[in-house]
Amino acid sequence: MARSGTLQSLLQDARRLQDGNDACGAAVLVVIAIKALQSLDRGASEAASTWATATPQQLPLLQKLQLAQGVSAGLADSSEAGGFPVLLAQVPELLSRLPAAAKLADLLHEWLQPAMQPERHKAARLQLAQAAATRSCAYLHCTNVGGEGGSAAGQGVGSMRCSACRAVWYCSTTCSHADWRQGGHRRVCKALGIARQAAKEAAAAAESAAAEGQ
Ligand SMILES: [Zn+2]
Ligand SMILES: [Zn+2]
Repeated sequence: MARSGTLQSLLQDARRLQDGNDACGAAVLVVIAIKALQSLDRGASEAASTWATATPQQLPLLQKLQLAQGVSAGLADSSEAGGFPVLLAQVPELLSRLPAAAKLADLLHEWLQPAMQPERHKAARLQLAQAAATRSCAYLHCTNVGGEGGSAAGQGVGSMRCSACRAVWYCSTTCSHADWRQGGHRRVCKALGIARQAAKEAAAAAESAAAEGQ
């Protein structure tokens, strides 16, 4: 919205309505414009909240985002206090903030690019794979999950495990091959194995701690 010039035309429409004595219509458009700026600021502050875990590659962009945020600061998005005149008096100020808003939108757009989010992508992929691991067949396109394979991993006739990660089960070699090639298991197999091993070690440590406590 801020990048495409939509906000600019929205505010011009607001002015036109105001000139035509439709203060209510104009005020609605002003509120929409302010909400758009607020959502940009929210996006920037959400990005800033990842600061502590950011990679060195992400830091310069986060720094720019931090400097560019605040495009909605001090704007009143409700007419409660002073009625429509208060909202409408902000139009010149809003117009003057549009270049800054467009710049913030560009930075946010860049921030949301997959190339900027390698860790988040990896984490999402692993999470999906772990959810799939609870199915009797981890190949997500397989519809055989309620049938002879049973509804949970490791159940049913012909249920077989990935020998590398030992974390997922399939109803057949057809599905294990399909998941490896098209389902993306080859990209998460190693991480799943590591996560499974870590969970096993944590459980063992908890068990021995409990045994010592007795
Ligand atoms: Zn299957
Ligand atoms: Zn595997």
